[in-house]
This record gives sequence, structure tokens and C-alpha cells, in this order.
Amino acid sequence: MHYEGNPIRPPSEAGSIILQVATGCPHNRCAFCGAYRGLSWRTKPDETIEADLEFASRYCQRQDRIFLADGDCLALPFPFLADLMARIREKLPRVRRISLYGSGRSMAGKSGRELAELKRLGLNRVYVGLESGDEELLAKVSKGCTAESMIEGAVRLREAGLFVSATVLTGLAGREGSERHARLTGRALSRMRPHQAAFLTLMLVPGTPMHRDATGGRFVLPGPEEMLAELGEMIKNIDPQARMQVHANHASNYLPLAGRLPRDREAILAAIEAARSGATPLKPEHLRAL
Ligand code: SF4
Repeated sequence: MHYEGNPIRPPSEAGSIILQVATGCPHNRCAFCGAYRGLSWRTKPDETIEADLEFASRYCQRQDRIFLADGDCLALPFPFLADLMARIREKLPRVRRISLYGSGRSMAGKSGRELAELKRLGLNRVYVGLESGDEELLAKVSKGCTAESMIEGAVRLREAGLFVSATVLTGLAGREGSERHARLTGRALSRMRPHQAAFLTLMLVPGTPMHRDATGGRFVLPGPEEMLAELGEMIKNIDPQARMQVHANHASNYLPLAGRLPRDREAILAAIEAARSGATPLKPEHLRAL
């Protein structure tokens, strides 16, 4: 496979074929993100995509899932995506799940009809980086879209029959904004109703504005126990009737968690409290990763 940079994928795509159809991220300005710094946003040459599909058809015969990298591939033009879905079905008929990243802007850029057509052609799942339900915080970290746009977009994806996974970043508001970040994010998830909420823990990446703020004393990263308290508050602020899978199994997390709301709400909160009290060991700092 031809990869440029280091394509990233959500934890749920660990066993998937990673087909890099574009490089970088059309936004590439989030203050906490160093994933695609130095990489420009552009689609890969058609012959490269074709060669990778050919390679996957020969050597990835046991994989039945495919993830389209890099960031925000839902922003690619509808005709490009529709053609790509058709080619994937032709070359990789055993693929049962096609996933990609989406943003508030790219979700708004596709009509309901286009989303439904992409679903019909094979797209199953969209990962949306909500990060927080706090609009002021999203503006402060230059997220490039509002929580409201992501909530609206997720509702439209669901209406088109697509599976929605929302990613949340604990620690993003620092120590000072933690309570507000937790409260507003729980409320946003209640309205967004993703099928899956994935919680990651902020790690400061050298070279990013947020890392510079931390080294300059303008941002204080919460400690492990505070990160867990924040996660617990987010869960508590999700509507008790809301149904969604909860995952905190990313390499950045201090405590791996998985469950289903509302069924496992109390068990998840108890696991968080056990970790905060020291009864459950946390992942050592040197084993955390992005
Ligand atoms: S967090 Fe997502 S949208 Fe923001 S710069 Fe990174 S890849 Fe792009």
C-alpha cells in the first residue's frame, strides 16, 4: 500500500484495510492536533488508489472492513466518493464495512440524498471529532466547526442510515474549564445520539499551539485522576435515556472502558471511581500513545 505521512485511524478500525485516498486534513488547524502538520490536503493520484485496491484484493483477503484515510474524507466530492464505493465493491466484494472521518463542515456539505446514496453504495460508518460540546472551547482550540453543526450533521447521518461515532477529548479545557467541558459535552452527546461515543485523553503534541500554551504556562493539563473525574462527569451528564456504546479504549486513555448506555452507566461510573481511589491501577504514562 502507498502511504504518505502516518495515516491515523480510530481504534475501532484496528483490523481494517487502511486505504489512503487523500492526504492530510482540509482544516488542519486544531490547536491540539499534530496528525497532519506539514502534509497538504489533496486526493491521491487515481493510479495510486487503483494500485492499492489491486494490492488489497490480492493480499488483504481476510479483512472485510476498509477505512478511508486521511482526515475528513467525507469532504471529498460526492462523485469521487460514489465512484470509489463502486470500485471498492468491484475489487473487494468481501468488504462489509466502509468508514471514514467526517466534520461539521463536510456533513453539511452533503445533501440528505447524497448521504443516503453513499450509504446505498456501501458507506457504513462516519467518525466525527466532536471533541467537546462547549462552543467557546471549540472556538478557542480552532476546531473550525461548532458543536451545533456536528450535532445537526450527526442527526442527518443517522437519518441516512449511517452509523455515527463521536470522538470526545478529555482534558481539552485544561484544569480550569474541566467542569464546563464535561457538562456541555454530556449534553451535546445527549442531543447528538451517536451510536458510539469514543473518549480519548488529551496528550500534548510538540509543535502544536496547545503544547506551546502548556510550556508557556497558559494551559494546565489535568492530571490522570482529574481526567477520570471529567470523564465521569461527562457520562453523568448524558441523558439517562440515551442509548449508545461507550468506548475509552484508545491508547491515550489511563483506564480502558467499554460498555453500553444506559445499561452499563453505573458499572462505568463505579469503574472510574475505583480507578480514582487507586483500587484499579492506571495505565503508566510511558505506555500511553496517540
Ligand atoms: S483534529 Fe481532525 S479536523 Fe482538527 S486538524 Fe486534526 S485531523 Fe483536522
